[in-house]
Amino acid sequence: MGPAEQLKCLLEQIAFAAQEASGCAGQFDFGSGQRTANHQCVPRRLPASRSVEAAQVAQHIRPDNAPALRELTERLGSQQIITVRRYASFTRRFWARDQRTLRVQFFGNFSSALRQRLLDHFNAWTSGVTIHFDETRGRGDVRIGSDHSGNWSYIGTDALLVSPHLPTTNFDGLSMDMDDEVFGSIVQHQAGHALGFPNRSLDASLHVNLDRQRLYQHFEQLLSWQPEDVEQHVLGSTDGTQGELIPPLMQWQLPDFVWQQPPPARQLPLVTDTDLQILRRVYASSDHDL
Ligand SMILES: [Zn+2]
Repeated sequence: MGPAEQLKCLLEQIAFAAQEASGCAGQFDFGSGQRTANHQCVPRRLPASRSVEAAQVAQHIRPDNAPALRELTERLGSQQIITVRRYASFTRRFWARDQRTLRVQFFGNFSSALRQRLLDHFNAWTSGVTIHFDETRGRGDVRIGSDHSGNWSYIGTDALLVSPHLPTTNFDGLSMDMDDEVFGSIVQHQAGHALGFPNRSLDASLHVNLDRQRLYQHFEQLLSWQPEDVEQHVLGSTDGTQGELIPPLMQWQLPDFVWQQPPPARQLPLVTDTDLQILRRVYASSDHDL
């Protein structure tokens, strides 16, 4: 690597660290839940200034990532002005239907057993479709690291805009000692993001049991979000992909303190047939648009 490349790499790493420190993707103490501790997902996004470029890349890779005008007017209302940024935010981030392999590169110290266990859970998603995750020693489409705080992943093709020196997915504290259900639920959720699914808004039946103030507080600390952002992304409309195209597994995971009553014993989410049906709609070979 020449001096100019080294400097670029260093600057990218500084920008990346600054993003984490600003709270945009920062760490958060999720409390003392035994089975759920530290397994929540911290959404990871490109800077807003790159959203239009990211949407262009996504549409270039797969034209039906672009939202139909009908879909936009249904969701925004016909009186709304559709700005370029808004259009970009509604653009999906799925990989091409004919993409066979997503190459997975590991950064840092992952034992071969841990790499295999991670890949097995990434591939829990790929039954019945041609796309699958495969390890590479070269440059990965998905680059897995463990040096950052939180569990997160860029959404689908957004990974293409991340510097190759940096991870696109991070796991915080995964180990071979973990129970397979806990390990799987953490990894499979992030694999869903790597495939292009954003978080899914909370089912309406759960809203009544939420403590709104604590929920707002949680997202203010986690992502510097305003209450209206929480209403839109966590409770209401989704992050730009039709709700019906987001598997239930991708539903937001919230810490216990945001609930008024402790929620009923939750099963840790793992890929189910319902999730796979949605995945096949997105990735099975078909001439039909989404
Ligand atoms: Zn998530």
